[in-house]
Amino acid sequence: MTQTLVILPGDGIGPEIIGEALKVIEWAQEHAELDIALEHDLIGGQAYDAYGAPFADTTLEKCRNADAILMGSVGGPAWDGVDYDKRPEAGLLRLRKELDLFANLRPAIVFDALVDASSLKPEIVKGLDILIVRELTGGVYFGNPRGIEDLGNGQRRGFNTQVYTTGEIQRIGRVAFELARKRSNRVTSAEKANVMESGKLWREEITALHASDYTDVELEHMYADNCAMQLCRCPRQFDVIVTDNLFGDILSDEAAMLTGSLGMLPSASLGAPGVPGLYEPAHGSAPDIAGQNKANPLATILSLSMALRYSLERADLADLIEQSVRAVLDSGARTADIMSEGFREVSTSDMGDALVARLSKAQAAAA
Ligand code: NAD
Repeated sequence: MTQTLVILPGDGIGPEIIGEALKVIEWAQEHAELDIALEHDLIGGQAYDAYGAPFADTTLEKCRNADAILMGSVGGPAWDGVDYDKRPEAGLLRLRKELDLFANLRPAIVFDALVDASSLKPEIVKGLDILIVRELTGGVYFGNPRGIEDLGNGQRRGFNTQVYTTGEIQRIGRVAFELARKRSNRVTSAEKANVMESGKLWREEITALHASDYTDVELEHMYADNCAMQLCRCPRQFDVIVTDNLFGDILSDEAAMLTGSLGMLPSASLGAPGVPGLYEPAHGSAPDIAGQNKANPLATILSLSMALRYSLERADLADLIEQSVRAVLDSGARTADIMSEGFREVSTSDMGDALVARLSKAQAAAA
């Protein structure tokens, strides 16, 4: 059955990097029996300019009816003066909220060819392949009560509430265990059960879920501060890390930096079964290089690969794309952000073309 992918290029470098992902899609439609219909629409500043809102109701309907969504990036100085609820970033937040995309997947993979880009020693990060599963719609960023109050004595008090329910913990835990089964079968659950009741509940619920449905997966509990330390000390000990919204925000950025390069990092946000997943690079709209054919399109192409793996049931194509990314890097091609001495600097479009050429080679080799 034909599946539908909504394409939302967004702002800044968004249209350029999405353009390269579209080359990969066209190749797969032509050469690898990818049966997919594309729907194009706007998000972010582009949508604000065209529709007066950064994520229009009509776009939401399109997304709801799709199998997956591939986004570029949103934001830029052109919309700095716009009210907060109409800013480009508000469009992305609305998309995540309306579809209740509660699971944020952030892989951190160190490609052999880029091992020197990490700030850690090559022997620590070589071969690194971990996946952070962050709860995205609950916890302290959304809990009530919250606010800043005047204490009347010249002091003020700022407060937020960290809150999780059994259901919220179980559904994110389930995502992590299921993904681990497709990887190295290990889950590390990170919280602060030693000092927070919400952390104690998190640990108890993850333990119970594991005992009832996932005893085949190895489970380890770790305090989030220790997890942050272990990520720098010995990151390869991890396979899947599952954690809450706040700790996930920090740990996923830390893990990202182990790879040393923002232009290589894909992400996915998933909801309940049947809800389309949102796939996007982890970086922003890079206004400083927008329109210059300089951006690295690989994070977006790897996001497409995640969409094929997790939403579109084409893991075979995802494997082919990831294999081709490795081959292209091994060949010495580098966009400016990952350029170093002795390699060949290429543009955004050259990188996309080189990747497509590798796809054909990889497919021929596999046949
Ligand atoms: P950024 O990620 O856009 O850029 C940070 C630095 O990394 C810049 O020097 C940029 O040139 C570089 N960079 C980023 N992606 C790159 C790529 N693919 N290839 C080469 N270099 C790349 O972060 P920022 O500058 O803090 O934010 C710029 C805008 O993006 C802001 O409006 C921000 O709100 C928005 N933003 C959007 C998202 C999103 O769409 N999910 C995420 C983060 C930031």
